[in-house]
Amino acid sequence: MSLKIQVKNTRHGNPGVSGWYAILPEPDPPNVLQDDITADWLVIGGGFAGLSAARRLCQLRENESIVLLDSIRIGEGSSGRNSGFMIDLPHDISTDSYAGAVEQDVLQTRKNRYAIAFAAKAAEEFGFPQEVFNPCGKINAAATEKGDQHNREYIEHLKAMGEESTWLDAAEMKRITGSEYYLSGLLTPKTVTIQAAAYTRGFARGISRNVNIYEKTPVVALEHTNGVWHARTPNGSVKASKVILSVNGHLQSFGFMQRRLMHIFLYASMTRALSSAEVRKLGGEPSWGVAPANPFGSSVRKISGVGGHRVLMRNKFHFNSSMEATERDVQRAVRGHDRSFQRRFPMLKDVEMEYRWGGRLCLSWNNVPVFGEIEESLFAACCQNGLGVSKGTLAGILAAEYASGVRNSYIEDYLNEAQPTRLPPKPFVNIGANAYLNWQEWCAGLEK
Ligand SMILES: Cc1cc2nc3c(=O)[nH]c(=O)nc-3n(C[C@H](O)[C@H](O)[C@H](O)COP(=O)(O)OP(=O)(O)OC[C@H]3O[C@@H](n4cnc5c(N)ncnc54)[C@H](O)[C@@H]3O)c2cc1C
Repeated sequence: MSLKIQVKNTRHGNPGVSGWYAILPEPDPPNVLQDDITADWLVIGGGFAGLSAARRLCQLRENESIVLLDSIRIGEGSSGRNSGFMIDLPHDISTDSYAGAVEQDVLQTRKNRYAIAFAAKAAEEFGFPQEVFNPCGKINAAATEKGDQHNREYIEHLKAMGEESTWLDAAEMKRITGSEYYLSGLLTPKTVTIQAAAYTRGFARGISRNVNIYEKTPVVALEHTNGVWHARTPNGSVKASKVILSVNGHLQSFGFMQRRLMHIFLYASMTRALSSAEVRKLGGEPSWGVAPANPFGSSVRKISGVGGHRVLMRNKFHFNSSMEATERDVQRAVRGHDRSFQRRFPMLKDVEMEYRWGGRLCLSWNNVPVFGEIEESLFAACCQNGLGVSKGTLAGILAAEYASGVRNSYIEDYLNEAQPTRLPPKPFVNIGANAYLNWQEWCAGLEK
């Protein structure tokens, strides 16, 4: 029996220049696959899921050869261009609240922390500095009475889950952020903030002693013949007996889950480096991260370290089933970022944004991942839904474990998930989803 998959979309560029990537030193030139090679394992996709899968394979299959391919540079994709919150507590971004059913949320939190502990171990081993991996927690910041109320309801939910949190009043919020914009905040201490591009690039460097990594090497076809997978790339190929597909929404480009995956673009902007006088004017702590009390508001990060002191703003969701966004889409989406920035930081009125970008995440209608053996010896760790930093890491770990014959309750849970439900026809889902997102963003008001 032979199966041949022609990969439909191999244009994986992301719109705009990600500040996380741009402020890092220029990387070495990419190692592009130019030969026909053979390995025991092939991992396709070098985001959180693929990198974690490859590292877990190194731990489980010490003497086996592992190849990882990505179509772009590691750190350029969504895993290197997000807001950098590796969140432990559940957060369904398709609703206007962070709270779900208690029992389910307790279990999801345990799983997210399993992933965060794995990332923390890697960060320690690879020598990541605090600016790359910072276990400083996350503040849900409220700018309105409604947001404040959201936080008060969320505290009750956290108590029911047995979770600690710290209430911050407006003065505390000003002490941390330098901004007088926030009425209150709720600190949950176990989220980690990362420098997204430095984390993914550093992670790839860390595993490269045991994993052959090829960048700018898209898989254009995948064929299974006589128990061997054969992945073709523009200038070479890889033969491997087992493959882990960690390409998130691009799973559909491989022909799987057609019309079952939703592709949402998120947008971010990063300021230029602040001068010393501007840093003093802003005040606050050198680095912090706030998520909005209303999930449709703005996430804000203040960073310091390589690249200087900068502020990152992230808001605006756009559903796009074509998986493509243009520079114009970025310009349109980020228009509101300057306004959101000025509202919070009037003392920085002369500070402009240096980088603006967008990136993709993948959701399913019924909020389930795509995981498991989707064809013989072909394993998926895709469709992370919200919290893709933690859940992508988790899916990668579990896919490597499952494919290596390990069994545990987290894997069982993933295997027991339903399939993503079928979406309504394209025009309806595009219009409907964007109308819903625009409405929620409008309701978020000054939280944006
Ligand atoms: C602006 C923004 C802010 C965000 N903020 C957060 C946040 O704070 N917290 C959070 O949890 N999530 C956040 N996310 C979402 C998060 O970044 C994603 O969910 C996460 O990156 C998913 O990881 P992944 O490894 O599954 O997929 P990806 O990071 O998309 O990695 C998949 C990789 O597969 C590669 N690939 C695809 N097809 C092929 C092929 N044919 N051949 C070779 N390689 C291929 C791609 O190039 C890509 O590098 C944000 C996203 C954006 C865009």
